[in-house]
Amino acid sequence: MKNIRPIIEINHLSYRYERENVLEDINLIVHKGAFLGIVGPNGSGKSTLLKLILGLLRPQNGEIRLFGEDIKQFKDQHKIGFVSQKANSFNSGFPATVYEVVSSGLTKKIGMLRFHKNEDSLKIKKAIAAVGMEKFVDRNIGELSGGQQQRVFIARALVSDPELLILDEPTVGVDAENVHSFYEMLSKLNRDGITLIMVTHDIGAISDKVTNVACLNKALHFHGTSHEFETEKTNGMSDIYGHGVHLLNHDHHHEHEGAQL
Ligand code: ADP
Repeated sequence: MKNIRPIIEINHLSYRYERENVLEDINLIVHKGAFLGIVGPNGSGKSTLLKLILGLLRPQNGEIRLFGEDIKQFKDQHKIGFVSQKANSFNSGFPATVYEVVSSGLTKKIGMLRFHKNEDSLKIKKAIAAVGMEKFVDRNIGELSGGQQQRVFIARALVSDPELLILDEPTVGVDAENVHSFYEMLSKLNRDGITLIMVTHDIGAISDKVTNVACLNKALHFHGTSHEFETEKTNGMSDIYGHGVHLLNHDHHHEHEGAQL
């Protein structure tokens, strides 16, 4: 069903910090229900693209529409949850429980007191359960592993019930043996209805985790379903693990139409 309003629509987006473009003519559509992996090497513009989508930077050229509305007019920030890359960095002395950290997702201004209602407590517990951390509700966040902390930060983003969740390199602090179950948790969130965007430099094993892949290296060099990505990988690309996203063969993609994700 592609006739409904896309969650994100990006048209001819370019961005430069100084003279040179770090993003060039990006066209991308993200539909409700997608789990999009944005992959690209370091410095390829991934964080810049996220900052633009989050409204932290303003594009010099092009257009971003969120939930059908131009980002300049967009006010429903609560529809978008974001977990930044450096979120999971509490040390063992940090005096807050999992419950408290997740409840802070209901408080807009960090540090301000807020009296939680009973329904808030239900929301908080639901968010903690959604990331599989119900056994750890009363534990101090600093005692948890990197992967567990990352789950808690995802719960904090989920507690305000966003329609879109954006994750910047979510598996960085996750131990190798827990990566699989971490992705399983993300997949389940996606199957339960949330649209997900995940940025990663790890192009290797991404396609069996997500529904769609976008390869960024200043320009968007590939966009399509994860199945198309796999086919492309076997047929068209010689160096996908190196600096390879720019070597993608994108002859049969219609760049000007944007990605139909
Ligand atoms: P990625 O997230 O893929 O590693 P970034 O979006 O962080 O890439 O960076 C893209 C390019 O923009 C890089 O060349 C980086 O050096 C440059 N860049 C990022 N932030 C700034 C900034 N605040 N000022 C100037 N250049 C920047």
